[in-house]
Amino acid sequence: MSAQSAPELAPVRPLLAEAVVIARRALADLGEVQVGAHLGVTAEDECSATHRFEATLPGYHGWQWAVVLAALPDSDRVTVSESALLPGPDALVAPEWLPWDQRIRAGDLTPGDLLAPRADDPRLVPGYVATGDPVVDDLAREVGLGRKKVMSLEGRLDAAQRWHDGDHGPDSEMAKAAPSICARCGFYLPLAGSLGAAFGVCGNEMSADGQVVDAEYGCGAHSDVELPGGGGTPRFDAYDDGAVEVVTLPPTVRPEPVEAEPAPQEQAGPEDHADTASAEQAPAQPTEVDVTDVDVTVAAETAEAPADAPADADGSDAASTE
Ligand code: SF4
Repeated sequence: MSAQSAPELAPVRPLLAEAVVIARRALADLGEVQVGAHLGVTAEDECSATHRFEATLPGYHGWQWAVVLAALPDSDRVTVSESALLPGPDALVAPEWLPWDQRIRAGDLTPGDLLAPRADDPRLVPGYVATGDPVVDDLAREVGLGRKKVMSLEGRLDAAQRWHDGDHGPDSEMAKAAPSICARCGFYLPLAGSLGAAFGVCGNEMSADGQVVDAEYGCGAHSDVELPGGGGTPRFDAYDDGAVEVVTLPPTVRPEPVEAEPAPQEQAGPEDHADTASAEQAPAQPTEVDVTDVDVTVAAETAEAPADAPADADGSDAASTE
């Protein structure tokens, strides 16, 4: 059965090509109601052909119903062989299947997982084969021991390239801003073997602790870093708040003092005393002017009081005196 809607290359027997209704009815008999337009027919061989219909199922954009019809060479009777839903050339389909060992990616390994190397893994060679690392080979020869498998030269070169290009390589942002390189750091623990020429393990818990670092990598926790004098970070100057900073302020406009008008003498009374009291409590210069005027008024009233008192006592004497 062909899943493609490519141009029909082989001629289709007219008997099979004209059996569109039979093919559509076969789908209906199966309960498939979401069948769209007829897309074409393709010859499978001399006795069979595949009719394709548009599938209008939700989520199956570009898929096609395929119905294979068959007819014997000398027969005028068409029979239905099979039907299926197949992806067309524009169908949305899943990615091509990959074996598990090709789907595994770095970082997929979790606690408890077992990940065996491939049988033909180029990163590994039998332990008795020279690894290309003179230190390892010399030691293995001397001791006469070896592991069952060791890392091949290809495997070690791959690892070295990854480490060099990784987060702890010389091109990382941290390394570019570092005061010095790992190769000169007291926390740098060089690897054994030929890789030790370019890589080591950082032993500083404040930095890349326990991770392989390139000898040209570096960080701000380098053992040669010295604290700057005083507080603050070495990146910024400390702010000296003991220095005097002279600031020029704009001139201040002071309000003109307002002189209060003296109160008329004949209207002096209890209200005036109240005003006097409030004036004494008022702040600044205008208050002094008011207090002086009021004191004068009060003194005048006090001087007239003895003359008025007897007059008020006998009534008409005051009028006769005038
Ligand atoms: S502390 Fe920094 S400079 Fe020193 S080895 Fe570790 S990463 Fe390198």
